Amino acid sequence: MQKKGYSFGVGELIHADHGTRIRMELEESELFSIDENIIFKPPLKADVTFMKIDNAIHVNLENIMLNLQLICSKCLSKFIYKMKIPQAERVYYFEKQRGIEMDDIDTFYVDMKRLVIDLKEFLRQEIILHFPQVQVCLKSCKGLCSKCGSNLNKGRCKCAGSDYQNKPLSVLKKLYNKF
Ligand SMILES: [Zn+2]
Ligand SMILES: [Zn+2]
Repeated sequence: MQKKGYSFGVGELIHADHGTRIRMELEESELFSIDENIIFKPPLKADVTFMKIDNAIHVNLENIMLNLQLICSKCLSKFIYKMKIPQAERVYYFEKQRGIEMDDIDTFYVDMKRLVIDLKEFLRQEIILHFPQVQVCLKSCKGLCSKCGSNLNKGRCKCAGSDYQNKPLSVLKKLYNKF
């Protein structure tokens, strides 16, 4: 099976018997756009299995691994997020499916002119689906000082020790104690 970037030549599978499988290892450094705000750091690795089914090829991906560069929502620094997707699958049809628009983003087709399957859109959708809901560099990220904006992971700022930063309530306590 020939491979170029994320495209695999499936010519030999198109006329193969039902259930015929081909396993491949994908390790690719070619970049592709996931989303404007998501920077993908190559390589991307995955185990790929192509299986001939009725008028289609079933594609099963396992152990998808890649790194993304994200921005921490607490301290605003860039950090590398290691994404691991255990398993994902799609069916790539040979012909247009009845009742489904050709440009339906959830329906995939084998490129019957070039006899290839391009996995980019499949991978892009899976990466977005597995995107972390909370983007923080570390669970223990201390974030930025609310007064001076210093990154508190890099050490204490000048405001450290002030009532304002450490114990906002202690200021209130002092006020109460006056009475
Ligand atoms: Zn952070
Ligand atoms: Zn500060």
